[in-house]
Amino acid sequence: MQPPTPSPSIADRLAAVQARIRAAATKAGRDPAAVTLVAVSKMHPAEAVLAAIAAGQRHFGENRVQEAAAKWAALGAAAAGTELAIIGGLQTNKARDAVRLAQVIESLDRPHLADAIARAAQQEGRCPRLLVEVNVGDEAQKSGVARAEADGFIEACRQRFGERLTGLMCVPPLGADPAPHFAWLAACAARHGLAELSMGMSADFEAAIAHGATRVRVGTAIFGAR
Ligand SMILES: *Cc1c(COP(=O)(O)O)cnc(C)c1O
Repeated sequence: MQPPTPSPSIADRLAAVQARIRAAATKAGRDPAAVTLVAVSKMHPAEAVLAAIAAGQRHFGENRVQEAAAKWAALGAAAAGTELAIIGGLQTNKARDAVRLAQVIESLDRPHLADAIARAAQQEGRCPRLLVEVNVGDEAQKSGVARAEADGFIEACRQRFGERLTGLMCVPPLGADPAPHFAWLAACAARHGLAELSMGMSADFEAAIAHGATRVRVGTAIFGAR
């Protein structure tokens, strides 16, 4: 009987993803250090995050504020020095918890949420970095501001949040070639002078890097299936 093949550890998978990021950046003529790997730990337990921290990972992404708050509380002192990004659609009634917990909110996509974040930032005396999420495929079910409204919304957010507005984020339609969507978002960010470009997931982060991504959000390739 064959011994079972050991499954690769989180540390191994992280190293493999980092190597692919370096290769993709180099191929694109970009500095690999200009691409931040955001490890998306949603639906994985605090132990998985701990393993990633032990392997040197510092940037994490979570979809749901409550899940993230519970997980980061469980991490305790081990979470020191980590940077947490909320990347999922955010309800206005969760804005205050998100502002309290996260260093980055990547899913700012509508005026009511901007209101709630501004209010929460005032109450908490801190404001995370903010990325506007654009619904690049104009999909009915998806969060993100519609492309036609993106310029106006980004401008309004800049007036309101100033330098705390740092970039744009998108999740292209599933199954479509993401390249034109990445190109659209990159052009939009350039138009607005925004430096952070969060795009690319497990299936397409190399293409995103080729189009200028500065943050890639990778879950499955690091933590396994959810
Ligand atoms: C889950 C999720 C990811 C990570 O997706 P993988 O395919 O597991 O890498 C990235 N971004 C967002 C917004 C997500 O919800």
